[in-house]
Amino acid sequence: MASDAVELRNVTKTYGPVRALVGVSCRFEPGRVSVVRGPNGSGKSTLLGIVGTLTRATSGRVDHGPLGSRRAEVRKTLGWVGHESLCYPDLTGRENIELAAHLHGCDAGAAFRRAEERFEVGAFAGRAVRTYSRGQRQRIALARALVHEPRLLLLDEPTTGLDVAAVERLIGVVRDEANRGVTVLVVTHDAAFSDALSADIILLERGRRVAAASS
Ligand code: ADP
Ligand code: MG
Repeated sequence: MASDAVELRNVTKTYGPVRALVGVSCRFEPGRVSVVRGPNGSGKSTLLGIVGTLTRATSGRVDHGPLGSRRAEVRKTLGWVGHESLCYPDLTGRENIELAAHLHGCDAGAAFRRAEERFEVGAFAGRAVRTYSRGQRQRIALARALVHEPRLLLLDEPTTGLDVAAVERLIGVVRDEANRGVTVLVVTHDAAFSDALSADIILLERGRRVAAASS
């Protein structure tokens, strides 16, 4: 299936008096990793939420290629890993993955087997997620987000709390996804992570897009 660029034109988002985004235009290409950077409160998560249709822009246009701005359609093609893992803590890792597969109408057994191979979750997938380390939770969260082979992958600060080996593994997964044509959008402060992905950089300052300084 061909995927198309996600395009934002002159997007503004206000929360009452707070201007979270001001006239932001950008384009996210299939097969590319784009990294959104900027200080706390600069609008990064808001931008991710708008691309992921969880938040509506106050004004401006958001286009998802042939899907246009049809939220239900966009959501079917979307994988999301937020600050929080979105896993159910009292379910096991395996149950979380199988539940996600069910919700997307995918084969649950096959989804878990893929997760076992790709994320090596076998050693802990039978325990409740609340007993996991941050890195273990992150692996389940990623596996969960990828069960339906999304065309658009959104990651909010995915390297926070991960050790070097876990970051390496994450880089591998993100590269593989981009190589199969997925549009990847990452919010991160981790410069080494975005360098490793040779990402396009989108820099935000107080809700406005500014030119990225060359390093
Ligand atoms: P970042 O992810 O870059 O730290 P956010 O996108 O979370 O920034 O927030 C941008 C601005 O919008 C901040 O001033 C924040 O307080 C405000 N904001 C974000 N979400 C909400 C909300 N649901 N209600 C009110 N203000 C919000
Ligand atoms: Mg944020």
